[in-house]
Amino acid sequence: MTSLRSVTLYCSSSRSLDPHFAVAARAAGELLARRGITLVYGGGGLGLMGEAARACKAAGGRVEGIITRKFLDLEQGWLGCDELVVVDTMRERKRILIERADGFLVLPGGMGTFEEFFETLVGRQIGDHAKPMAVLDDHGYYLPLHSLIEHSIRERFAREALREVLRFGTELEPLVDWLAAEAAAPVTADPERFLPMGPKNSSPPAH
Ligand code: AMP
Repeated sequence: MTSLRSVTLYCSSSRSLDPHFAVAARAAGELLARRGITLVYGGGGLGLMGEAARACKAAGGRVEGIITRKFLDLEQGWLGCDELVVVDTMRERKRILIERADGFLVLPGGMGTFEEFFETLVGRQIGDHAKPMAVLDDHGYYLPLHSLIEHSIRERFAREALREVLRFGTELEPLVDWLAAEAAAPVTADPERFLPMGPKNSSPPAH
């Protein structure tokens, strides 16, 4: 059991987005600052990553960035971070992003965000961590991801317990409230409830 002191944010590094996506990214940064929650992210200055980090800092929040040496240049590592950790590999970057979080917030993003999302979700499923994940379905961007996950549960490739640790929503505040409530709840990383193979001795459903 812990309180929500830090949230790791996964989101886009793209410079080519419709500007409407920046609104929620800035709102996320400001909300975390207002609540005194440290924003942990990939350390870049571009795209929604940069928008969220700058907004958080401007609102008086604390920002920690984790970036690789190579991406310092490519993603314009943001030197305004209170702490900018420079690592050698993407693996190391993701490990620290997960380690430093009390919960995760996912905003629209591309392949990097998808990878971070799935790696973190699988980490929860196999019991590597017990931290909640919230996905902001901004402008309907994550409807396909949400339906894919629901589809996988309906078809029994994934377990219903996933819904307890992963929340989709269209409003930021309730998602952060939920992260805070989950982070404060006494949860254990209990892979038996999440792993697709199901409990021992369970038989396949009749069709
Ligand atoms: P994107 O959603 O593709 O704009 O990427 C969002 C963030 O994920 C960026 O900071 C990328 O550098 C990062 N990223 C992309 N691929 C990886 C990877 N293999 N491991 C860790 N981070 C990654």
